[in-house]
Amino acid sequence: MPAKRTGLKTINVDEDIFNYFYEQYKREKENARLLGEPEPKSFVRFMTDKLRKLKELEEKKKPRFEHFNVYEDHVTIRDNETKRLIDVYVKNQGVRKILWCEFCKSQECIHVGYAWSLSYIQRVIAGS
Ligand SMILES: [Zn+2]
Repeated sequence: MPAKRTGLKTINVDEDIFNYFYEQYKREKENARLLGEPEPKSFVRFMTDKLRKLKELEEKKKPRFEHFNVYEDHVTIRDNETKRLIDVYVKNQGVRKILWCEFCKSQECIHVGYAWSLSYIQRVIAGS
C-alpha cells in the first residue's frame, strides 16, 4: 500500500468542475511554458492555490465583529481580525451600568463600541 502524504485530504468533485479547472491548468501550464515563466508544478498545487485564494476572499468578506453568545452578565464577540473570542461584561458602577472588555481591560475599546450596538446589551442597560 502506498504511503499517504500527511497534511492532505481527498475530495471528489463533479466531473464538469474537474474538467473546467483541469483545462485551465493545462492552458496556464502551456502559456507559462511559451512565455518562459515558471509553470504550475502540479494540478494539485494549482487547485490548492485556487482554493487558498477563494478562502482569503471569503475571509475578507466577513465583518470584523460577530456576536457569538449572550450570558447573564456578558456577551462574547468573535473578533475576525485577531481571530479571538472577546468577553464584554456588564458591570454596575454606582447606580449605572457600564461595559467592560476583559481582553483590553477597558470600557472604551472597539469591542465595547461594538457591544453597545447589540440589542441585547441595549435592553440590559435600559433595564438598569
Ligand atoms: Zn476590547
